[in-house]
Amino acid sequence: MLLGLFPLFSFLVLMPFASLLGGGPASGEPSGLIRWLPWFADHPLAAFVVYYLVYDLCYYWMHRAQHVIPWWWAMHSMHHSQRQMSCWTNDRSHYLDGMLQSFILAGVGLIMGVEPSEFALLVLLSELVQNFSHANIRLDFGRLGWLGRVGQRLLVGPLFHRHHHMLRDPERPARHNCNFGQVLPWWDMLFGTALYTDEPVRPTGVSDPEVDADNERGLIAMQWFTLRRFWGAVSCKAGWRLGDVSFGPGYRPIHDELPRLHTPDQEVPQPDSTARQSRS
Ligand SMILES: [Zn+2]
Ligand SMILES: [Zn+2]
Repeated sequence: MLLGLFPLFSFLVLMPFASLLGGGPASGEPSGLIRWLPWFADHPLAAFVVYYLVYDLCYYWMHRAQHVIPWWWAMHSMHHSQRQMSCWTNDRSHYLDGMLQSFILAGVGLIMGVEPSEFALLVLLSELVQNFSHANIRLDFGRLGWLGRVGQRLLVGPLFHRHHHMLRDPERPARHNCNFGQVLPWWDMLFGTALYTDEPVRPTGVSDPEVDADNERGLIAMQWFTLRRFWGAVSCKAGWRLGDVSFGPGYRPIHDELPRLHTPDQEVPQPDSTARQSRS
């Protein structure tokens, strides 16, 4: 996970399929972006920036899916169950989830016509920024004055991503569904999921006891129980119905009948007894 081997492996596995369809780096022909807009052939840096923007945008929507599709949350929740974050939290996720993400991102790279070396660079850059954004440090760009205010809107930093990992707030049940961006916070700003606040940070982790139990397990048991959670969700209808869930007997997802996304009007505390009942 740490070395980005999953994405590189996926890219190499998918390359022959891309060639079969007449594209991809192995075909020798320009493909993807350069084929659509030949101007980029002479401007590799500009092309790399475009690749990066598309890659990061896809990551944003994939991350939204990881939270809203219950069988995917069954796996991604392992990343969120860690109570104390560190720069390695980024790589604490289920191997099946890692594989699935890698195939999606590598597929996007191949459609865009990215070269293997460029893809490696995309992955490396993202990994580094994510190790930084998961670090357990009180680094708030906002404290650097105007420079910081600009900075925290240019790059996902530890404070921004920490809000994404917040423990669910029973008073504001949709607040934790925020800040999905990987490297650029722009997608959150664009799609209304960005949370910038001066309020003290909330503790991190998950409130669902079935998922929090990950913390009592070792490396292999954690992978195994997450796989069981995934199977419990993917093998029933409720696991495919979008929304926030917790896990009941047999790891069957139980839907919360609550608003899903953080939006600015939900900032005001609202009494809500269902929130406490379904996930306390
Ligand atoms: Zn997440
Ligand atoms: Zn994270």
